[in-house]
Amino acid sequence: MKIELHLHTNRYSGCAKNSPEEMLDRLVELHYQAVFLTEHDAVWPGDELENLQRHWPQLRIFPGLELTLHNFRGFGHLLILGATEPEFLDIVDPGEALARARQKDYPTILAHPYRWEGAADMLEKGYYPDAIECSTPNVFPEQAILAQVKAGEFRMPVVNSGDAHGVDFLGRYWIETAESIESPAQMRQILLEGSYDNCSAE
Ligand SMILES: [Zn+2]
Ligand SMILES: [Zn+2]
Repeated sequence: MKIELHLHTNRYSGCAKNSPEEMLDRLVELHYQAVFLTEHDAVWPGDELENLQRHWPQLRIFPGLELTLHNFRGFGHLLILGATEPEFLDIVDPGEALARARQKDYPTILAHPYRWEGAADMLEKGYYPDAIECSTPNVFPEQAILAQVKAGEFRMPVVNSGDAHGVDFLGRYWIETAESIESPAQMRQILLEGSYDNCSAE
């Protein structure tokens, strides 16, 4: 299954260029089979998600969010895949975010840890998400290498993603699984087992 783990739309992320419709059409064109919608500090309402799923039956559409966390030296971004609960939006503490996500078996991924100073601070404080984001169109190769080194140090899986803020971010970095993903909990299991491939067109 070709999967996008990190995607924004202009419906709920002010910095995204394209609409949900444009993003989902492009994912289908590029033969993705599943996507997690991870807007900045926003969750998709259930009825809107159901509506999207009805119109794009070729894609498995999962919810999620990209949560802004307060760190030592600034802030970091944590992907919480599967989350629909608005309560997540009130969390700013990394430990609390991980604990709440794990209660629900939602996968957690530290987004672009070396894109800015302090973005990886949760690791230094001893808070380890399920995986670390590695290559995306938004990070320099040196930053992806740093993420890989850090993941090796902590024995954590790394994932490629589109961190897609527009249709031109798609089809560049993604993951593939042999299994068909039916739930966020199953996605979490597969990430923790490492039974997926990081893929890139570049
Ligand atoms: Zn981010
Ligand atoms: Zn993002």
